[in-house]
Amino acid sequence: MPSVLIVGCGVFGLSTARDLSRRGYSVVALDAYEPPSPWSAANDFNKIIRAEYTDLIYSKMAVEAIHQWRDDPDLKGLYNECGRIMVTPMDHVGRQEFEKKGISNLRKLNEGLKIKYLKGNDALAEICPELGHNSLGPEQEFKFNPESGLGHAGNSLKTMYLKCKQLGVKFVFGDAGRFTGLEKKNGKVYARAANGQLYTADQLLICCGANTGKCMDLKQQQSATALYVAHIKLTPEEYSKYKDIPILFDSDMGYFFPPDPATRVIKIALPGIGASNLVADPHGSDKEISLPRYHNANPSDTMPKYGYDQVVKLLAKYCPDLAYHMPFNAKTCWIGDTADSHFIIDQVPGYENTFVATGDSGHGYKFLPNIGKYIVARLENTLDPELKNAWKWRAGAIFDPFSIDWRVAKDFPDLKDVDWWIEQKPKL
Ligand SMILES: Cc1cc2nc3c(=O)[nH]c(=O)nc-3n(C[C@H](O)[C@H](O)[C@H](O)COP(=O)(O)OP(=O)(O)OC[C@H]3O[C@@H](n4cnc5c(N)ncnc54)[C@H](O)[C@@H]3O)c2cc1C
Repeated sequence: MPSVLIVGCGVFGLSTARDLSRRGYSVVALDAYEPPSPWSAANDFNKIIRAEYTDLIYSKMAVEAIHQWRDDPDLKGLYNECGRIMVTPMDHVGRQEFEKKGISNLRKLNEGLKIKYLKGNDALAEICPELGHNSLGPEQEFKFNPESGLGHAGNSLKTMYLKCKQLGVKFVFGDAGRFTGLEKKNGKVYARAANGQLYTADQLLICCGANTGKCMDLKQQQSATALYVAHIKLTPEEYSKYKDIPILFDSDMGYFFPPDPATRVIKIALPGIGASNLVADPHGSDKEISLPRYHNANPSDTMPKYGYDQVVKLLAKYCPDLAYHMPFNAKTCWIGDTADSHFIIDQVPGYENTFVATGDSGHGYKFLPNIGKYIVARLENTLDPELKNAWKWRAGAIFDPFSIDWRVAKDFPDLKDVDWWIEQKPKL
């Protein structure tokens, strides 16, 4: 069996490493950090796993993924089918359409049959008594899908990594694993690491998430987007009250998860207020491109001051008894956006046997169980033509945050213009 070098051990890299090694390939995988890497968009308490998509190709893949989240013994204990409440203001036409189409796609697949269409604060209190003091208002419609859930994100990366090790994947981390670029030598392509070491294999797969565009020239087709998360820690009494709530997704304000069982921490995400980090293109074009500025090296990149106001308003709207909590560990996380939210899974033009799997566009985590299968199919040139076309290399297709209806970007400044919230440390 041929050998494959995987660069980047996040969701796409680990899922592929598992599938390749199961099929008997010899796999070496590089990363700057041991999983879960602080640079991975998925290194977090939890992420949403849902199957509502406007594009049937992702609906089918997400349904397949959810079945695996439920049943795959490798992922045991990492999925909680807690359900998801979706609240979208009636004037968010794009997001409303996204949800409507997403549900109708599911129904075409004979799925999503338990989704309920509901209206008003009393109905919300009935579905979720813990949110009984919500101020949704009597006219606001919402949906409840009991067949969505959350993945224990960082833990699942770690579990996949250990599984891959068990299957024989060889890992290299640190400077010897930190990819700095592709190099051609005597007709072969090599991945260069920060310590100068060169790696090659029969096939190379680069999947460095939002950072892929830093390490290699993606011809402007991916743009790193900063998204913000913050956390609150519940008291034991609050934890007992809120531990079984569904995910509450308010597309106007943000969303929060049930508290993490190990730490009693609720993660709150603010997807509507992304940002770019525009820098000179390291690959020499005359354009600026957005690249990640990772939180571990920039701890003051927390969230904008108005992000803090948003967190307080979100809690006050749905669970006012928690709105007194001071958020902590607010941080900037990075996704790799594309113009059409499709992934980029294709051969790199001009580099023989070299592929990229990137452009996650903020919706890739749920596919941890199965994206590897599709990436392997691309490497083996057996990928379904519809998927191959959707994920093809799209040089110059420029991301515009305001044209992605399903994400509802309200504001999209550059990091240099962000007025950062400063975490209040408790007085000793
Ligand atoms: C705030 C937030 C919320 C999200 N919510 C959801 C959600 O609810 N549901 C969902 O499905 N998805 C969600 N996502 C998206 C999901 O996390 C990503 O789609 C997914 O992590 C992308 O996988 P990836 O493998 O492409 O990149 P990543 O998981 O980011 O992994 C990239 C890997 O490459 C490594 N790397 C980077 N540069 C180098 C280098 N130079 N050398 C070596 N290694 C390198 C990193 O260390 C990392 O391990 C969310 C993302 C964010 C940021």
